Amino acid sequence: MSHVLHRSLTHTYPTAVAGDGPYLIDRDGRRYLDASGGAAVSCLGHSDQEVIAAVRRQIGTLAYAHTSFFTTEVMEELADFLIARAPAGLESVYFVSGGSEAVETALKLARQYFVEIGQPGRRHVIARRQSYHGNTLGALAAGGNEWRRQQFQPLLIEVSHVSPCYAYREQRADESDEHFTTRLAQELEAEILRLGADEVMAFVAEPVVGATLGAVAAVPGYFRKIREVCDRHGVLLILDEVMCGMGRTGSLFAAEQEGITADLITIAKGLGAGYQPIGATLLSGRIRDAIAQGSGFFQHGHTYIGHATACAAALAVQKAVEQRGLLERVVRQGDRLHTRLVERLGQHPNVGDIRGRGLFRGIELVTDRAGKTPFAPELKVHARFKKQAMAEGLMCYPMGGTLDGQRGDHILLAPPFIIDDGHVEEIVEKLSLTLDAVLTSL
Ligand code: PLP
Repeated sequence: MSHVLHRSLTHTYPTAVAGDGPYLIDRDGRRYLDASGGAAVSCLGHSDQEVIAAVRRQIGTLAYAHTSFFTTEVMEELADFLIARAPAGLESVYFVSGGSEAVETALKLARQYFVEIGQPGRRHVIARRQSYHGNTLGALAAGGNEWRRQQFQPLLIEVSHVSPCYAYREQRADESDEHFTTRLAQELEAEILRLGADEVMAFVAEPVVGATLGAVAAVPGYFRKIREVCDRHGVLLILDEVMCGMGRTGSLFAAEQEGITADLITIAKGLGAGYQPIGATLLSGRIRDAIAQGSGFFQHGHTYIGHATACAAALAVQKAVEQRGLLERVVRQGDRLHTRLVERLGQHPNVGDIRGRGLFRGIELVTDRAGKTPFAPELKVHARFKKQAMAEGLMCYPMGGTLDGQRGDHILLAPPFIIDDGHVEEIVEKLSLTLDAVLTSL
């Protein structure tokens, strides 16, 4: 019996022993095409020699130095690299070990900012239903993923949740994009006013919703209106790009495609591509200056923040993405994947929607396309899908509860940026075979 407390205590996991480009290989020699990058992490695949060499070099020189004593060249260089490419106004970076820590950091920076500028009454956070911001208590409270929150509810800080920009289900048939986005912005504004405009500190949203909705990008204009509402009431905008950032949707930051900037942006996953655990929170010069000119100390910190080896991995990953022109490849292969999914599954009676941006795609399953009726939750279609896909040698990221935490099933795809046309065909073929097998099993 394993002494590891695995995620599921009833499931036996295959043992991964090696990686080969976009494939993982288990102890029995079975190969799995990683069409989800694990959970949108492995953007360079699993055997990138340049990144591996950079990690080796860093460990051989300086593995780690605690950030309360030292800075390191590699951390400074990574921060310079990110800020040089970040949306306007973002001027500093705080490095952590993953996405949840990045979100916690953003929430604390928002709070401390208001304390520093003499607005200590600002304490409320507003986020969106059907979102995910991480599993630590603050990040879990921010998220609107009902299923993940439910049993921990008594431990969570109070956060309001407004509607997501989920056009497939929430935009009325007779509603224009303009009207839909205005309605959502008004809902946010009404919630700010209900809580008290001078008591709200931040609004948190994923530019492209990942695991909870399955690659749902906002309708054009939505984020500009949200930004205006936040600005009108002095509320900070936190964009959570842990999943959709670092090139996943075809631009280094997902916010670039919305034509807005944020006060805080969280990143992780693709930042280190799985070669090391690393996340980061980018903050505006305004927030940094408020702290610098106030207490002069950000009251936060973990032992492994700014870990030198993690920074070296991230720097090598980000240089590789840029130098190899992988953002263009994400757009090209993302379009190809979308086209092939639509050709193969677009008319399938149980495929309601195929969506997403770049190499971040979602497929929502339904029992009938016209009524958009979800499968009964007891059938656990998403769980069957994951199991069957693994049997076909395909890793994908299916989730249930797409509509409300209970009903609905979708499949999230986030393959490595290095996939070629053959891999796209393999993904589409195996997804199609998996879908047929799952439907037959119901
Ligand atoms: N935010 C978003 C949007 C995520 O998708 C995730 C993880 O899936 C997180 C935060 C939490 O990141 P981590 O699992 O690295 O703590």
